[in-house]
Amino acid sequence: MISPIPADPSSLASKAIPRSNGLAEDVYEAIFNQLMVLKIAPGARITVDNLVKEFNVSHTPIREALGRLEGEGLVVKQHLIGYRAAPQITRERFDELYELRLLLEPHAAGKAAAAMDAAKLAVLREAAGVMSRDDDTDERLRYSSFARQDGLFHDSIMAFAGNGLIQETLAFQHTHFHIFRLMFHRRVTEEALDEHQALLDAFAAGDAKAAREAMRIHIERSRDRLLPAFD
Ligand SMILES: [Zn+2]
Repeated sequence: MISPIPADPSSLASKAIPRSNGLAEDVYEAIFNQLMVLKIAPGARITVDNLVKEFNVSHTPIREALGRLEGEGLVVKQHLIGYRAAPQITRERFDELYELRLLLEPHAAGKAAAAMDAAKLAVLREAAGVMSRDDDTDERLRYSSFARQDGLFHDSIMAFAGNGLIQETLAFQHTHFHIFRLMFHRRVTEEALDEHQALLDAFAAGDAKAAREAMRIHIERSRDRLLPAFD
């Protein structure tokens, strides 16, 4: 039986998700968090009835959340069987993913640096800033929120690079959701912060060469941090 991670720290005391207009969103966030911190293990069966009991909500928001997570590649629906957490990516897929990232992201970071302006820089600083906020939030919540923000940070850089196809190709992989599920470890988030800062510095300077280099280093180090997950 999995236990819920409340969608916001103020609800830590109560097990049930508070009723609000954002109920569907809260249920989605709670299940998302459990998937990201491996509370629901990759490949594990997800039973709608169990989640209904656990969160004390009706079937509707649970099904809605699972449908959304299915679209994000985190949940797989099997005919007549039900839902499962998506399996862990394989080592082969991991290598392919990082090869693809290394081909596309440094190039795009260079283009984004060349096209940088104050408004774009503010968007990237905000995304990076949310990740570095070290408050009292539950460490598991921080981890899953980091995964989402890191995805947004990289997606924004791809958007600013101005090649929609590159952006779509990477977005379609849901890279950050999959790589952050390889392990739940502080190192994954802490070290990335410095690498993001190097990227922000290059963007602030409008330095395409430095941005390409900073992105290449970030992706290579990210790969090296996660490789032990396959040992
Ligand atoms: Zn990153």
